Amino acid sequence: MKQDPVIIQDPLFGALAYHKRFVNNTDFDGSKHLCNLPFRYAEVRRNGDVHMCCPNWSPVVVGNVFESSMTQIWQGERALAQRSSILDGSYRYCNWDTCSLIRNNRLEQRTETRIAQLVKRAESSTPETVHFVVDESCNLACPSCRVQRLAQLATAERDRGYQAITRVLDCMFAEPHAQHKTLSMDGSGEIFSSELYRRLFETHDVFNRSDLWPNLRFRLTTNGTMMTPKLQRRYVHIMDRLEQLEVSVDAGDPESYAKVRVGGRWDLLWENLRCFHDNILVRQPHTTWRWNIIMQKNNYKSLPDLINIANTFERKPMINMTGVLNWGTWTEEQYLDHAVHLPQHPKYKKYTKIMNSPLVQEYRNSYGI
Ligand code: SF4
Repeated sequence: MKQDPVIIQDPLFGALAYHKRFVNNTDFDGSKHLCNLPFRYAEVRRNGDVHMCCPNWSPVVVGNVFESSMTQIWQGERALAQRSSILDGSYRYCNWDTCSLIRNNRLEQRTETRIAQLVKRAESSTPETVHFVVDESCNLACPSCRVQRLAQLATAERDRGYQAITRVLDCMFAEPHAQHKTLSMDGSGEIFSSELYRRLFETHDVFNRSDLWPNLRFRLTTNGTMMTPKLQRRYVHIMDRLEQLEVSVDAGDPESYAKVRVGGRWDLLWENLRCFHDNILVRQPHTTWRWNIIMQKNNYKSLPDLINIANTFERKPMINMTGVLNWGTWTEEQYLDHAVHLPQHPKYKKYTKIMNSPLVQEYRNSYGI
């Protein structure tokens, strides 16, 4: 059975739906910490909704790009309210149970100097980083992510997503400027198989005229399987300005990969990533890469092999090792069967043994997140 969300009524935001438990169930003391996300970051969804955090961590919607400009949203009443909840230490819009920054004690220490810096950063007319989550179509069909393959969005949805992005770009890049801005895309599907992103990448000035916005950078999320050497050459103008490439690798051996990345080709993945490393990463110190492995029953044993592969690269990737979440594709029983990181799982001891092994600990201390 799926868990029903907890609904909280808020005078400004109305009904807010929180998955899992809501607040006050950890030892977190908001008066001692600072989250910088709502001061520098916005996330835009295909329906135009704007968040200043991952909606799974804080469901607050601060505006909609089909109703207001990004500048109006960024300086609007709702955005100010979410920032106030950080500044007053209440963190009242945050789900303390799902936010990994709270859970893993990764928020920065609160100081008056740091508060002043963050408030100043938020005074800019638009966020420093905008993350688009508009296209969940993908060339793969991984069980933790979806129940069936979605090769492309329907035309109306694709157009809607395209318009949501271009409304933001038209506001933030109406004129040439040298402000430091980052556009981050997408993570809900495969960016290099998306017709929506292909149209943007090949036609929009923001992706093709680096002379107009010299301090614009990109962050891309991909499963790596379609990022062929040919495609990397075709998008060299984007690769040149890459701040970070995030790759959902998800396994360290071909057997595990076949189970968790259904439809992906292990050999092709590494051909593509090796090409990216040797031709782009090693000559661009401003670009980093990060590999994700979502720990679950079908891949946790392959983590040491993934680290061994990482150690063969000159530019080591950060490796993000996080426990699998239920994105709504599994029943609660199915989820608990896959969630090897939970203490009640029968293989939890074996999982912790791997996580605490010297190889994993050493890599985590140097490059883990
Ligand atoms: S949920 Fe976490 S990341 Fe989001 S605003 Fe709150 S503290 Fe920051």
